[in-house]
Amino acid sequence: MENKAVRIIFSILAPAMLIGGLLWQVERYKVKFFNSGYQEVMGTFAQVTVKSPGKLVADKHIEAAFARIWQIHAMMNDRDPNSEISHLTQTAHVSPAKVSPELFEIIALSREYSRISEGAFDITVGAETQLWRQMKQTGQKPDDAALAAAREKVGYEKIILDETNKTVKFAVEGMKLDVGAIAKGYAVDLAIELLKKKGVKSAMVDIGGNVRCFGDGPAGGLWLIGLQDPRNPQELLAKLKLNDMAVATSGDYERFAVVDGKQYSHILNPKTAESVSELASVTIIAPMAVRTDALSTAVSVLGAAKGMALIESLEQTECILILSGDTSSLIQSRGAAEFILQEPKNIRTQE
Ligand code: AMP
Ligand code: MG
Repeated sequence: MENKAVRIIFSILAPAMLIGGLLWQVERYKVKFFNSGYQEVMGTFAQVTVKSPGKLVADKHIEAAFARIWQIHAMMNDRDPNSEISHLTQTAHVSPAKVSPELFEIIALSREYSRISEGAFDITVGAETQLWRQMKQTGQKPDDAALAAAREKVGYEKIILDETNKTVKFAVEGMKLDVGAIAKGYAVDLAIELLKKKGVKSAMVDIGGNVRCFGDGPAGGLWLIGLQDPRNPQELLAKLKLNDMAVATSGDYERFAVVDGKQYSHILNPKTAESVSELASVTIIAPMAVRTDALSTAVSVLGAAKGMALIESLEQTECILILSGDTSSLIQSRGAAEFILQEPKNIRTQE
């Protein structure tokens, strides 16, 4: 009697356990998206999203990506007197200084973006950004003598690189590097490369609006990124759809100094040391985040006409511009429409 009861219970339980076990296995291998949430790094907020069969694996990948980002932050932080970049700034006018492969690469890439933008993008802008930071703190504009002295210290052609020995030398004393316009994009690319190497099939890395993604995204296979309204950053002007691409926006609304009620953008024209003002927002779409970061700053300096001409001359590179004087309409490069999910009403395409 007892045996029969056990047999009956077992014949009910066994298939139920089998089905339950199978469902558990299916659930286990059903890939989901896991997100780090926003974490403060590189003077802004970053998040990493990975597609993974489980949280444990996802967390490991997210942790590794953040470790790489922190490494770049530590090297490139010009506000830390002990960082590699600060050390270079203090010594490179005396004799050629040997630097890490990452710092060498970011300087070499920066020189290339300086060359193609005819100096609109320039990481030797450090002496000028230092004056801008003082202006932000004091609410007082720097005097002409200080601006002239800072301008003397600027110029990408004053960096001498030795490719073989990986050394950097400055042609003038007092030159100060500021990689704030390219380091976040560079770190995004390194984090993405690391995730790919670890076998992750889909991921997105975002450092302060410098975004790159690969693989299937959570929105029907795509990754959706909002384009902020520069005069009302809580609102989106458009949504971008990306796959295996990077996007970055430089905007006058992000960081600015205020003097006598007037806003001065953190992006400077290296030739004049003045804040730029023509464009409220510049969005660049390209395969690499280092490119979108550098070019969004370069185009902010070049302005709409010259900036658009530069973007149209480059392969696989698109832009969406918003003028400060007319923030209700977008100006986009010829190939940009492919990346816009919802066409906003006022949109002008480069003729
Ligand atoms: P982003 O937000 O990428 O446009 O970078 C802006 C930051 O880069 C500023 O806060 C400065 O530290 C630095 N910067 C400002 N103007 C330039 C410029 N013309 N070229 C390179 N870096 C710049
Ligand atoms: Mg930039």
